[in-house]
Amino acid sequence: MCETRDKDLYAVLGASPSDSVQQIRHRYQQLVLQFHPDRLGGECSSESASSMKFLEVDAAWKILKDQKTRREYDLKRREQELRQDWPEDSTVYLEDMAWNKDEQVYTHYCRCGGRFCVTKEEVEGAKIAQQDDEEEESKEGQHRGVIVCCDTCSLSVQCHMAV
Ligand SMILES: [Zn+2]
Repeated sequence: MCETRDKDLYAVLGASPSDSVQQIRHRYQQLVLQFHPDRLGGECSSESASSMKFLEVDAAWKILKDQKTRREYDLKRREQELRQDWPEDSTVYLEDMAWNKDEQVYTHYCRCGGRFCVTKEEVEGAKIAQQDDEEEESKEGQHRGVIVCCDTCSLSVQCHMAV
């Protein structure tokens, strides 16, 4: 995978994921003033660092200015962040989880002794999201699952489920 190649768009703009679109726009405008090729005049070739920076900033802004593409990016970013901390055994399949009749949740034991719990609603929600994805962009949808946090420690797993 090429995750290291994917830059954090918020970092590119010097913004934070909690910033409003107005705040991000402000950051973008400041950076454009700083790096715009027109501003740098003739001394700026297409390979120059400033020009590269400008393209990067511009591409980041194009994604973050739109609510829909920003939301998609936020989801992807969150998944990537979580994935980075995951050990190999951090994926569980819903079929392998135990159904707890009393609490109406699927459970999986964490190495710390705590539990990962997935409710029926979460399973349904993920299935619907998965179906939506398949209609729009099938290549993105194939690894969707629910991110579940341990109820005791800070570990999380991705719960995969067949649609
Ligand atoms: Zn745990």
